[in-house]
Amino acid sequence: MVADERLMEASVIEADGSIEEGLRPQQLVNYVGQKKALTNLKVFIKAARGRAEALDHLLLYGPPGLGKTTLSRIVAAEMGAQIRGTSGPAISRAGDLAAILTNLQPHDILFIDEIHRLNRVVEEILYPALEDFKIDIIIGQGPAARSISLDLPPFTLVGATTRVGLLSSPLRDRFGIVMRLEFYQVDELAKIITRSARILEIKIADEGALEIARRSRGTPRIANRLLKRVRDFAQVDGLDHISQPTAASALDSLEIDERGFDNLDRLFMDAIINKFNGGPVGIETLAAMLNEESDTLEDVCEPFLLQAGFLARTPRGRVVTRLAREYFT
Ligand code: ADP
Repeated sequence: MVADERLMEASVIEADGSIEEGLRPQQLVNYVGQKKALTNLKVFIKAARGRAEALDHLLLYGPPGLGKTTLSRIVAAEMGAQIRGTSGPAISRAGDLAAILTNLQPHDILFIDEIHRLNRVVEEILYPALEDFKIDIIIGQGPAARSISLDLPPFTLVGATTRVGLLSSPLRDRFGIVMRLEFYQVDELAKIITRSARILEIKIADEGALEIARRSRGTPRIANRLLKRVRDFAQVDGLDHISQPTAASALDSLEIDERGFDNLDRLFMDAIINKFNGGPVGIETLAAMLNEESDTLEDVCEPFLLQAGFLARTPRGRVVTRLAREYFT
C-alpha cells in the first residue's frame, strides 16, 4: 500500500528517531521561521519571566512536522522550566492525568501532543486544573466514595494538535495563547537543511539545499527526511557532496516531483479529477476509494494541497481548482 512507503508523511515516527532528535533545535536562535508566532511568544515569555510566573497555557496547532514539539521544548528552555511530555491517547483514565498533574513542580511545562484526542472524562479533570490549579479526585468506591480537592503548583499546559477544529470549545477557551504554525518558505527550509547537513556531516551546495527545500511541502520534518534519503543516493554514487543535480535526480527516483507531490497526492488528485469529475466529493468516499484512512488524507495530504491552491473545501465536499487540473492532467 502506498502509505507504508510514504516518504512524505510527516507524522510517521522515524525508525532512526534518535537522528531526528539530534536535528531538533534546542534554542530559539536555531528555530527557523514562524516569525509572527515567535515575535509574540517572545514577549509573553519575557513578561512571564519578569513577573516570576508560569507562562499562560499555550495551544500550538498546524499540520504534522511543522515544529510544535520542538517549539514546546524551546519554550521550556526559555522559561528555565522542566518539560514533561505525554499525548492525548496515552492518557486514557482520569487517574492517569491526576498522577501527572500532582507530580508537577512549580512552573513546569506539561506538553500534551494530539490534545484533540483526550477523552471527555479526562478533559473535564483538566478544566479546574487549568483555571484554578486545582483538581477534584474521587477516593474510594460506592457509598464510601468522597471527592477531595487538591491544589496544584502553577504550571503551563502546552497543547499541540493537527486538528484544532476537533477541540471542544471549553478546552480551547482555557488556553491564554493560541498559535497557528504555518508552512515554511523555501529559503527557510533550505536553512534548516543546511544546518541539518552540518550536523549529519554531509556537504551540500546551496542549490542542492534549495532543490530539497522546494520538494519538502513546506515541512521541516520532510526536509530532514529527504536530506537523509538524498544523502544515501550521493553516498552510493561515491559523491562527496550534494549538488543540485544530485538532489534532483535522487528525488526524481523517489517519485517526488518538483512541487513535492508524491504518489499519494497524485492518486488523490487523480481520483477527484477523473473519477468524480473534479468534485465535490466527500473525504470518506475518497478514503474508501484510495484504501487510506480519512485522517491520513485530512492531516497529511490535504493541508498542503489546500495551501498550494490545488484543492478547495466546500460544504458538499472537496473540489479541485483550475491550477490542479492544469498540473495533474
Ligand atoms: P510537530 O511536533 O509539529 O509534528 P516537530 O517539532 O517534531 O513537529 O518537528 C519535526 C522536526 O522538524 C524536528 O525534529 C526538527 O528537527 C525539525 N524542525 C521543526 N521545526 C523547525 C524549525 N522551526 N527550525 C528547524 N528545525 C525544525
